[in-house]
Amino acid sequence: MSPESSAKRPISQKSGSELRTDPLTGQQVIIAPGRGLRPHSARGAAEASAPAREFDPACPFCPGNEHETPPAVLTLPEEANGGSWSIRVVPNLFPMVSASDGPQAGERPSLPASGSHEVVIETPRHDLELPDRDEEDIAAVLVVLQRRLAALLAERRTRYVSVFKNRGGQAGTSLEHPHSQIVALDFLPEPVSHRVRRARGYFRKRGVCLLCAMLRDERDAGARIVHEAGDVVAFAPYVSPSGGQVMVASSAHAASFTDAADGTLRDLARTLRALLRANRAAHGDPDYNLVLYTAPAGRLQDPALHWYWQLAPRLAHTGGFELGTGVLVNSLDPDDAARMLREAIGGDVPA
Ligand SMILES: [Zn+2]
Ligand SMILES: [Zn+2]
Repeated sequence: MSPESSAKRPISQKSGSELRTDPLTGQQVIIAPGRGLRPHSARGAAEASAPAREFDPACPFCPGNEHETPPAVLTLPEEANGGSWSIRVVPNLFPMVSASDGPQAGERPSLPASGSHEVVIETPRHDLELPDRDEEDIAAVLVVLQRRLAALLAERRTRYVSVFKNRGGQAGTSLEHPHSQIVALDFLPEPVSHRVRRARGYFRKRGVCLLCAMLRDERDAGARIVHEAGDVVAFAPYVSPSGGQVMVASSAHAASFTDAADGTLRDLARTLRALLRANRAAHGDPDYNLVLYTAPAGRLQDPALHWYWQLAPRLAHTGGFELGTGVLVNSLDPDDAARMLREAIGGDVPA
């Protein structure tokens, strides 16, 4: 299914389930709004844990506890000393991957999972979450992510760099203090290769970038657009692999997030702020992942590739059907998800 044909289809028949295929990944998704697994199954705000404090003496990311993390890779402002910083980037004390001397002889074939794993501490404030920041603060975090991404991509061994934010226990984080993570890998993950192959295949056939085509079609269709600021657009993709997912991309084509211009980062910050606030209001403050998809090393100028961010609120759990078939089930129609988020943005009081 091409994104051209998909985006122009009429708004889904609410009575039946539909099988859709994600043009980016080939992932099959059943959109099943009739299942009744609506977003109210998400953790509601009332069930959320007690509100965080401004400072937690036991938190390794809070000011005054800098000695509990390895020395910073980057600190802003650069002249900051002691607890006067605004953003710190530190190596993860419990990394997924680390520098390796080479393969170990083992019982079964394996390679070292080598690379580096950094944490971006977004603010000294323990309780100041991304949607509560102003646009300039969010833009400053994006600039730091972009700088570290560029630095890690420039290292000879790096094949791919994953940039993401996990918010809340259901999204895979153990620490409350607002932070993002950057994992540089000395190997190219197979699912990343798979996406690259699909995007290059589409480009060869159509002569246009797949994501540029998706953006154009979603703008033409309009139903799934959540927010637009300058060249940045947020939309609920026609094939959303899980409920409430939103893609955020710029129509200024670039394969690598390292090439996003300053103006695009500002528009992205404004869009992410509106989107994260709407996500909280529309779905009852769910845990979420915010993930960057960007070109692997060696393909930073590939015309077939195009960076984007994906917001995935944790509204439902996957079960045996998904494990057994590899087909995902999404009970929130993306047209409805987009409408809910647009309404939440419309009702948001500027802070
Ligand atoms: Zn803290
Ligand atoms: Zn593009």
